[in-house]
Amino acid sequence: MSEVASDPGNTVADGVPKCPVDDCNLTVDVILRSSDGESFGAHQFNLECYSASFPPAASTTTNSPEEMTVELTETAAVLRLILQYMHNVRQPDLSKVSFLVLSSLAEAVEKYLVFSAIDVCKVFMDKLSKDDYPSEVLMYAAKHDYLDLADKAARLTLGKSDSEMVAAAEGLQAPALVILKWVGMHSLIPRVNLY
Ligand SMILES: [Zn+2]
Repeated sequence: MSEVASDPGNTVADGVPKCPVDDCNLTVDVILRSSDGESFGAHQFNLECYSASFPPAASTTTNSPEEMTVELTETAAVLRLILQYMHNVRQPDLSKVSFLVLSSLAEAVEKYLVFSAIDVCKVFMDKLSKDDYPSEVLMYAAKHDYLDLADKAARLTLGKSDSEMVAAAEGLQAPALVILKWVGMHSLIPRVNLY
């Protein structure tokens, strides 16, 4: 689709945005709109190939941007990264993204089952658990049953109080069972594993 590659702006035609992946010449037949209002051209075939649960557009056979659009809860920064994982291109360098974007991406690829991104997100979440985000990594790991990572991150939260961890869990909308388990086992650490 030569008009995609040659278009200098963000829009191909008739209000249909370009795919954000560099040099992508695939036909845009679905539009993804982020929670912060940015639209991206995408390809239904790629969404189906790289994701096991991506929501479909109302129609991919129309030129109506409205009918081609899927409203998503992820931000534009996260959608750009997800779309890169849904193309046969070099994967993004996650060492250069903020923790907020990384953690949001990690949740999104779990939700949409983007298997090409799940493990690398887990690796970077593990790496960051040693730094400033052990509570957040604990909630992520427990939520998705990464028990080794949950145990490792939990050990890094031992200096925190119950109320701090409850507040962190509420802020992250973590399952209640996670924080109940943490509070219940807190006093036993380090003699037993948390998970
Ligand atoms: Zn593309």
